[in-house]
Amino acid sequence: MKKKIYLSSPHMGGKEQDYIKSAFDTNWIAPLGPHVSAFEKELSKYTGAAHAAVLSSGTSAIHLALILLDVKPKDYVICQSFTFSATANPITYQGATPVFVDSEKETWNMCPKQLEKAIKHCLSDKKNPKKPKAIIPVHLYGMPAKIDKIMAIAEKYDIPVIEDAAESLGSSIDEKQTGSFGKFGILSFNGNKIITTSGGGALLSDDGEMIKKARFLATQARDEAPHYQHSQIGYNYRMSNVLAGIGLGQMKVLKKRIAERRKNFERYQDLFESKKALGYNVEMLEEPKGSFCNRWLTTVLINPKKNKGITRDTLRLAFESENIESRPLWKPMHMQPVFEKYPFFGDGTSEKLFEIGLCLPSGTNMTEKDWDRIEKVLNEVFI
Ligand SMILES: *Cc1c(COP(=O)(O)O)cnc(C)c1O
Repeated sequence: MKKKIYLSSPHMGGKEQDYIKSAFDTNWIAPLGPHVSAFEKELSKYTGAAHAAVLSSGTSAIHLALILLDVKPKDYVICQSFTFSATANPITYQGATPVFVDSEKETWNMCPKQLEKAIKHCLSDKKNPKKPKAIIPVHLYGMPAKIDKIMAIAEKYDIPVIEDAAESLGSSIDEKQTGSFGKFGILSFNGNKIITTSGGGALLSDDGEMIKKARFLATQARDEAPHYQHSQIGYNYRMSNVLAGIGLGQMKVLKKRIAERRKNFERYQDLFESKKALGYNVEMLEEPKGSFCNRWLTTVLINPKKNKGITRDTLRLAFESENIESRPLWKPMHMQPVFEKYPFFGDGTSEKLFEIGLCLPSGTNMTEKDWDRIEKVLNEVFI
């Protein structure tokens, strides 16, 4: 069997083990310690958010943001439908109702028009008229959402925004980093993300009090007392000092990783461009003016009508037979059995993306040999 080529696999920079060693040498093997604080400072400096708390996952960061915004049963939380399930799951942990919003075609992220429709629906619902407690847009695959328009609507109705920047660390709009626009931003350092701590996440905010409260809730909500004293429910959501050490090592190569991911995108772009002469038209997502995309994953749309009947599954299966991983674009939440009973506002955009879209191998540790194998498949499919 040929070596597997993954969609996106961990890529260490080299310094990670030095930080791990120092954690061991000083016996800081705990969910607190100098690496945790240093990693938080670096993330805050990098993203421009005034404060950061590193946590056990991106999912726990979204959950804490919802708790801090006092999301409760019967509340509405508006959520981008075209995303990974971790964006929506924490809404249900709070017993609240997710209201899903479709994507627009330019960035594949939350459509501002559908967002406003969804807000109006919540405000005027016959059984439960209520202002949504939060809006969660996502910068999917690293592409910045139309955050200015989303923020303007959020401000008009006075609803806080939780930006899901799990896939977009390093992406920006007019030089301002994704994750730093909303009341909260969240990051993920899961194994497949642009940098990883094997598992982990972060909550970002300009509101220092909120981040302080997040740290408190994430360490079992212990009140100040010599004994264990609790006046509210807590969580065990903090990141270990050992893993924060991996994060510090990964921060050293983040810029390089972004450049490499962007190069992957360009390489695919050149390849598909050359197929146009043969009558194919594989579409790729352009950066809108002012947007900078980390190109976490390179994605393509393969409309069979524009590609001599070739579908995204033709390509996916051809890759699979060569032990190369590719994956359909994320299946929208409103189409998922577990979420289909919830309200949805849309025009079919994300459904179409799911039907014809594919994520291509986008790791930064792919070798020239790996690229040869990928290009061979592409040249055999788009003949
Ligand atoms: C990975 C991811 C998350 C969740 O992060 P974890 O660290 O895996 O919990 C949330 N949202 C999106 C869009 C993601 O891709």
